[in-house]
Parts: sequence; C-alpha cells; structure tokens
Amino acid sequence: MKVALLSGGVGGARFARGLVEVLPACDVTVIGNVGDDLEVLGLAVSPDLDSLVYALAGLNDEQRGWGRADESWRALETVTALGGEDWFRLGDRDLGLHLVRTQALRAGEPLSAVTARIAAALGIEARLLPATDDRQRTWIDTPAGSFPFQEWFVARGHRDEVDAVRFEGETAAAPGVLEALAAADAILIAPSNPYVSIWPILAVGGIRAGLEARRVPCVAVSPLVGGRAVKGPADRMLARMAGGTEPAHVASCYAGLIDALVVDESDPTTELAVRRVVTRTLMTDLASSRRLAETALGAVA
Ligand code: GDP
Ligand code: CA
Repeated sequence: MKVALLSGGVGGARFARGLVEVLPACDVTVIGNVGDDLEVLGLAVSPDLDSLVYALAGLNDEQRGWGRADESWRALETVTALGGEDWFRLGDRDLGLHLVRTQALRAGEPLSAVTARIAAALGIEARLLPATDDRQRTWIDTPAGSFPFQEWFVARGHRDEVDAVRFEGETAAAPGVLEALAAADAILIAPSNPYVSIWPILAVGGIRAGLEARRVPCVAVSPLVGGRAVKGPADRMLARMAGGTEPAHVASCYAGLIDALVVDESDPTTELAVRRVVTRTLMTDLASSRRLAETALGAVA
C-alpha cells in the first residue's frame, strides 16, 4: 500500500516516524510544508523539512520537541556575542545541515534534490519531498499588523491573534509530488496545524486539485486533543477563524478533501460531516506514534 502524507514540522514528524514503522518506508512519500522557510544569518533554513529529517533519521530531540538531540549552541553564543541575528535558534549540529543546503541552493540545485540527498545520507528510506521547489512564504495577518511566519511565531511568540493566513509566491509542485498523490492508495494529513502547516501545502499549484480529484481515501488526523493544541497556536487559530475547536471545526479546514477525521477520545462527539475515527491521538513515544499511524491507516479501509 502506497501512502502520501501531507505534513508540517513537529506534530507531522512524530506521526511520520510512526507511519514508517507500520508500512515499508519505501511505500511512504512525505510532502512537507515549506511556507515556514526563512533565511537566517544568510542560511536557507527549512524548519518543517528539518523536523521531518531529524525524526525520520532518529536524530530529533524528544525533550525540546524541535531540532537535534545532543545539540550544542556555541556558534549561536558567538553570534550573540558579536551582536548578530540570534532570535532564531540554530544549534551547532543543525547548522551543518543548513550549510550544506544553502550551498546547494546557491549552486542552483532544487530544494527537492538537496532534501533527497540529505535524507539519503542520513539513511532515510521514506521519500521526503518539499511541497514546492519555488519560494513560498506564509504571512500572518493580525490586529497588530502582517508578519512573515517566523517573525510572528518565534520572534513574537505567536501571541497575536490571527485574522488570516496568506501564502506568497507563485508555486508549482516539486517533482514527484503530484505523481505521489496520483499513485497513492491512500492520502493522509498529519496532525499538523491546518492553517500554517497544511494550507500552505494545499496552496501549491496542483496539490489541492490533486486531492479533490483523488479516487482513494484521504484521512486527516486532528492536531487537537480535547479541543486543545498539544503545542502551539492551532486551538486559538481554530477558535478565531473556524469558530470553535470541535472536530467539525478541524474538518472544516479540509472541506471536500477528507473522507475521515481521526480524533482523540477526549474530543466532543458533536456532529461531524465526515467519518469519525476515535482513538488516543497523543504521541508520547514511538509506540504511541505507531498506534496512531495504524489507526489512521485502518480508517482508510
Ligand atoms: P510545526 O510545523 O513544528 O508547528 O508542526 P506541525 O504543524 O506539524 O505540528 C503542530 C501541531 O501538532 C500542533 O497543533 C499540535 O497540537 C500537534 N501535535 C503535536 N503533538 C501531537 C500529538 O502527540 N498528537 C496530536 N494529535 N497532535 C499533536
Ligand atoms: Ca512549521
């Protein structure tokens, strides 16, 4: 069974890690969000792709929830001491990846190619594709003004309420993305933030249409547990932009695109227009990630 997974960073990466325990990794294509990408200190950083790379390679830091395990911060200390740009935290090990990617992009290699190279070098067998090789940037409209995604998320600690999200850039799907969606026996949407992790993927030319035209089931996993985000602003965004944090509000973000929604047993059992699959959706370790992936795949049948 071939599966295509749409994914953001941390929530998506935890789920992807479980998925490759359930299916042969070579049957899994992960399509990652690049709307969060940014340049820091002259380096091209792709936070969501990197979360996926580190999780799939088993190199991620479980405690911190992002970045690499066994990380150190000496380069960043130097940056701070020199009065450089230090609002976006890059660890020493993490920096190595950004150096390799930045050099490749400057030499004209597409993001999809350098991502594949990095994944292969780290022994990742699943296919990891950026949604697009083109420059896409998520903008957040708030009562305090419009901000590039990371300025709102990291620098301002996502404290501003969100009125709307926008995706800047004319983007075409990266090589292999539309093919993977067309060839999949099932399409999964990870428990990622719908607005800032999944919508930017859907905004890439051809991807939403690919999902709409699917002849196979598409199952989303809710990123809320008991109506609350496990981490981050997804619950506040849903409350403000979708009108609530019930499963129906999550499903409304994917209207016309999903056949089932996997929700937590602590979520309200209020009306839902798509098939509801109830399970424990909190991923605290590899076993719980695997169980959630198993349930999501079970919902495909
Ligand atoms: P980001 O790009 O790093 O912000 O990551 P994602 O968008 O992929 O994931 C963020 C979302 O993951 C948040 O809305 C969390 O509520 C959700 N999330 C994190 N851990 C879990 C979990 O264990 N279970 C579920 N269901 N959602 C989770
Ligand atoms: Ca992200």
